[in-house]
Parts: sequence; structure tokens; C-alpha cells
Amino acid sequence: MRGGHEVVLLMGPPGAGKGTQANLLAAERGLVQLSTGAMLRDHVKRGTELGARAKAIMDEGTLVPDDIIIGMVRAELDELEPIRVLLDGFPRTPVQAAALDELLDGYGAKVDAAIELVVDEAELVRRLVGRAEQEGRSDDNEETIRKRMQVYLEQTRPLLDYYGEQRKLVSVDGVGTAQEVFQRVVAALGEEAA
Ligand code: AMP
Repeated sequence: MRGGHEVVLLMGPPGAGKGTQANLLAAERGLVQLSTGAMLRDHVKRGTELGARAKAIMDEGTLVPDDIIIGMVRAELDELEPIRVLLDGFPRTPVQAAALDELLDGYGAKVDAAIELVVDEAELVRRLVGRAEQEGRSDDNEETIRKRMQVYLEQTRPLLDYYGEQRKLVSVDGVGTAQEVFQRVVAALGEEAA
């Protein structure tokens, strides 16, 4: 937490509850929540050019190109002083993680903690199918879900080692009610800070 900055990442596979925990934690710690998935869905809703391009990629379950995502995050971070942010769904690739470090370095900030929500695959699929029925997200169908899991395992999961090696990784059991998981997240972050 240098110079009043605080940067926390929420990581985990699709369906792990990143969005819910990001909401709760951002409110608790006074952080601005930046969700790249929500930003992209907003572009789709507003019918922007980026939205049109992103929709096809999101519906397929693969990743939007790094340069687009990094540009989006940079524009948001540029508005913040100090940088007090909870990043949900970013970084998702090693290129994004390196770009984030470089961006933060430019502000005199750094990643303070990366929280991993741990949920087994059967539970993830069950949740995502439930979310598809409730929210009607067009990327919550079985084929896309399977693709998103695969993309997570191949491209994003290696980042856990990256943050683990820096002793920034905080792994939390993500099974339970939102409040139960949140209590664990807060407790784990407290230990980290101690
Ligand atoms: P999410 O809401 O985080 O599950 O993201 C939904 C979809 O948006 C993903 O499946 C990707 O297609 C895209 N997306 C979100 N964040 C990123 C990111 N950091 N890098 C690349 N694509 C992303």
C-alpha cells in the first residue's frame, strides 16, 4: 500500500464468484471496482464498435485481444489518484499481468494481493448453468462455458504461480454463501496485511 495506493486482484475460474466478492470487497475497503467483463458487456449494450467486436469473442468463450483490454484498463486507472482499485477478471494473460505491473509502476503503485477463489469444476458448471437461466448472459451456455474453463486453465491459471512466487497470492475456499466466502476473504487479507 504505497502512497495510499491499494491494488487487489480477484482471480478464479468462470463461475467462482469473482463479481459478487469484488462488489463486497470494494465497498468494504473503499476501492473502485474495475471489471473488464462488465466493461465489455457495457460496450455491447451501447452498441459501440468495440462492443460488436467483443461480443463475437465473448460468445465464443475466448479472450478479447490484450491490447484492447490493456487500453481499457489504462484509461480507467488514469482517472484515479491514488490508485485504489479492485480488479475483477483482469489480468487474464501473462501479457496483461506484465502490462499491469508496468502501468502501476508508472503511478508508484503495485499489486498488493491477488485473491484466488477456489471452487471445484462440478460446482462451477452447476453455478454457471444456474446463472444462464437467471441472467440470460449469452456466454453462459454449455459449449461456451467449457471453452471459458479451458481458456482459464491454459491462459489465466499460470498467473496464480506468478503472484504466488511474489507471495501475493491469497487462496480462499469459494464454496458457501456469498457472506461466508466474503468473511474468509476478509480474514485472509487481514492475515496477509499482518
Ligand atoms: P467475465 O465477466 O470476467 O467472465 O468476462 C466475460 C468475457 O469477457 C470473457 O470470457 C472474455 O471473452 C472477456 N474478457 C473479460 N475480461 C477479459 C480480459 N482481462 N482479457 C480478455 N478478455 C476478457
